[in-house]
Amino acid sequence: MSRPVQARRLEGIDKNIWVEFVKLAATYSTVNLGQGFPDFPPPDFLKKAFVRALSGENHMLHQYTRAFGHPPLVKILAQFFGKLLGRDLDPMTNVMVTVGAYQALFCCFQAFVDEGDEVIIIEPFFDCYEPMVKMAGGMPVFVPLRPVSGSEQNGKLMSSADWQLDPAELASKFSERTKAIVLNSPNNPLGKVFSRGELELIADLCVKHDVLCISDEVYEWLVYDGKEHIRIASLQGMWDRTVTIGSAGKSFSATGWKVGWTVGPNRLLQHLRTVHQNSAYHCATVAQEAVAQGFQRELELYGKPESYFIQLPKELQQKRDWLVQSLDAVGMKPIIPEGTYFLVADISEFKSDVSDVPDSDEPYDSRFAKWMVKNKGLAAIPLSAFYCGAHKNNYNHFIRFCFAKEEATLKAASDILQKWKREKTSR
Ligand code: PMP
Ligand code: GLN
Repeated sequence: MSRPVQARRLEGIDKNIWVEFVKLAATYSTVNLGQGFPDFPPPDFLKKAFVRALSGENHMLHQYTRAFGHPPLVKILAQFFGKLLGRDLDPMTNVMVTVGAYQALFCCFQAFVDEGDEVIIIEPFFDCYEPMVKMAGGMPVFVPLRPVSGSEQNGKLMSSADWQLDPAELASKFSERTKAIVLNSPNNPLGKVFSRGELELIADLCVKHDVLCISDEVYEWLVYDGKEHIRIASLQGMWDRTVTIGSAGKSFSATGWKVGWTVGPNRLLQHLRTVHQNSAYHCATVAQEAVAQGFQRELELYGKPESYFIQLPKELQQKRDWLVQSLDAVGMKPIIPEGTYFLVADISEFKSDVSDVPDSDEPYDSRFAKWMVKNKGLAAIPLSAFYCGAHKNNYNHFIRFCFAKEEATLKAASDILQKWKREKTSR
């Protein structure tokens, strides 16, 4: 019995922030602004499409479909993203459907990363990139977004745009060992939407060093204040070296459906297909059929006010503004996000309620967020969850809130914060 049962590739990756905080939020009666999912329903047209697929005449929708994507879905995705990228896409070779964007990411790392290959990850990052690179035998190399100094002056709130890469530092991370870079714009957790200039900087380095780009664009429609989401695959020299990843969960507010996709050149996608056919094989047929119909509708309404991809960001921008205002009012200073479901807020003014334990293995923000769930009934995610082990204490006085929530949920969160603030000031 002395032989370890688990494979070496699992070493050090057994903890998972979502497993931990989903459990905490379920254990304590909470207003849950933690894990990123909407608590409002998906659009009616999408739900109806699912019901039609489920109970309609075509009983074959209950059976296996094509491994790399249900034909109606890959066809409409090829049309839709072909239009956005300004190129003809072949549904069979330039698109692959996955079990959520999560599995798309997993396929990319398994397909491209060899033992010892380096993969550049921009911090803060969606947490699964690091363990997925490690499971593939790769070495994550981190480069931070840093708040530019002076951005908080004159009582102005900081914006996610104030968190920037240092071009020289970024360039210094590229070498002959670099196989890929992971880009996530709009970025989870900051809500940063990378500018054309920032994307060109990354693209130029990818071309110069012959590096692949895994571009996680699951929040592509959730961009605010008239900002533009730019697809790095559309920049010069990038189509051939980029896999673009999307999610129906985020696009249509249906995170439980777990339909995701990859778009890219066949020279890359052929290897994703190899991983996919030897792992998940395919994603639920009815869900794919319904998402195909959702995209059909969105293609017909493209750019029109009735389009869900136009309406959803408008609604979310109002929710963002509401949460920004209520956090600012109690002194939990928010960083205004340019996109996504999320905003990051500074907890410094609330620190006196949760004592610091110097030299603790657990970063302060993590202890704070757990205390908040248990004692205030409010769930949020510590920002340190989006940093690698060595950097978890770099920014440990921030927590991430999800604002993709019903008005009543946001109001309940605001009530908790206001009551807490009143108690603090009356002490
Ligand atoms: N990438 C990012 C940046 C995310 O925030 C998430 C979580 N929703 C995913 C990928 C995974 O998406 P999905 O739920 O479609 O698997
Ligand atoms: N993407 C979501 C978030 O960032 C949830 C991811 C998950 O539950 N694994 O909150």
